[in-house]
Amino acid sequence: MPIATVNPADGRTVEVFDPLDEAAVEARLARAQSAYESWRLTTFAQRAELMHRAAELLDKSNDRVARTMTLEMGKPLAQARAEAAKCAKAMHWYADRAEALLADEHPAAEDVVDSGGGSAFVRYRPLGPVLAVMPWNFPFWQVVRFAAPALMAGNVGLLKHASNVPRTALALEDLFVRAGFPLGCFQTLLIPSRAVEAVIRDERVTAVTLTGSEGAGRAVARVAGDEVKKTVLELGGSDPFLVLPSADLPAAIAKAVTARVQNNGQSCIAAKRFIVHTDVYDEFLAGFTARMRALTVGDPMAESTEVGPLATEQGRTDIEELVTDAVRLGAGLACGGARPDDPALADGWYYLPTVLTDVTPRMRIHQEEAFGPVATVYRVADLDEAVAVANDSPFGLSSNVWTRDANDRERCVRDLRAGGVFFNGMTASHPAFPFGGIKRSGYGRELSGHGIREFCNITTVWSG
Ligand code: NDP
Repeated sequence: MPIATVNPADGRTVEVFDPLDEAAVEARLARAQSAYESWRLTTFAQRAELMHRAAELLDKSNDRVARTMTLEMGKPLAQARAEAAKCAKAMHWYADRAEALLADEHPAAEDVVDSGGGSAFVRYRPLGPVLAVMPWNFPFWQVVRFAAPALMAGNVGLLKHASNVPRTALALEDLFVRAGFPLGCFQTLLIPSRAVEAVIRDERVTAVTLTGSEGAGRAVARVAGDEVKKTVLELGGSDPFLVLPSADLPAAIAKAVTARVQNNGQSCIAAKRFIVHTDVYDEFLAGFTARMRALTVGDPMAESTEVGPLATEQGRTDIEELVTDAVRLGAGLACGGARPDDPALADGWYYLPTVLTDVTPRMRIHQEEAFGPVATVYRVADLDEAVAVANDSPFGLSSNVWTRDANDRERCVRDLRAGGVFFNGMTASHPAFPFGGIKRSGYGRELSGHGIREFCNITTVWSG
């Protein structure tokens, strides 16, 4: 895939970028290393001042940044603005809290004595240059949720962004430079994915974080494992959304739609499998389908648009194949299942919001991540079956449950195999809460204290 800005709303190439050659990559690695040697010596207060400034600059350029994101990957403009605002908030959050999150830890006095020591503590020290391999779906947020904690911890960042969001990648570097971060603290590498291996193997790179597909995760983790370098992987998800008899049904239906079609359906934490108790199944399906069908699909730059095009032509092909396979094997099509017939949308990579029923394990969509506005709805007899269907997935990112029953809640917290359980709402990331999954959804955590400590040298300091 060339490194290029291609507008998914009309398929036109806006700008093509030359990838960095080996010498240019080498220069950036050298700059990262040298920046790290002084950045690691700065105080939390010095780092926080720059991080706050970056957040303020981002807020000031909110609309411009949002338009760049929408142009490159097609999310509705209002959602792009919200993404940029969320990034600024997370930057302030880490600027304000990093020092406390990374404060020295003191073991119990009796344990220090037991170790034969006079004193002991744990210090979180930085690691060095960290490589971030990032996806196009939340092209600012995915990067900022790595960069804000990493920089506040004293690391420096190297970004290999997805090849279809180069302008956004350059805007991120520009933001940190304009905020006054020393040159080399945060750099964008415009390189194709085949050039990533050499960067991981470079001795100056200490660790790698990747958000994206399982295939990309495996490839990066394989090389990093070979080099014995730490990785955090945030991969796909096929999150369940359980609707139980005590649910507030109108609220559940409204949120189900948002949870499925946010970001044109291209979110790892989007609810994808709707698992509904038989007592409320018919009412849920009718309401959900009506709302999915009523969504406004169109130009993502238009304020009224609720669902824009898919980010890439391949992404639309993938989603079409999943739906075709399911229907061929007997799934019911409650709505959608096609491209829109509006001629004004013919050149873009649009796909109608789609609801599939009667899905069985033989269908690919039962096991694979549907990265587009396509929902599967399952009917279950009771909570046992709901949990079994929810867990019957290779993924384990997050989960959503609608219930007002305390026993149901406890069961779900105990039994749902995922990195999150969200009740009576939809999964969302927030700087204060750890974010990440189990199974094929990856490992490690982003955000919160857990996230900032992932790329630290957790150092025992002991004195006799
Ligand atoms: P990828 O996983 O291919 O891309 C994510 C990032 O990884 C990009 O920067 C990409 O670079 C890079 N990358 C890809 N392959 C390699 C490799 N072998 N070595 C090093 N870096 C690599 O996402 P796609 O755009 O291809 O999307 C495919 C599917 O991935 C989606 O349909 C969805 O299922 C899943 N996905 C999940 C996301 C999530 O948030 N969990 C986000 C995006 C995708 P380049 O662009 O240059 O290939």
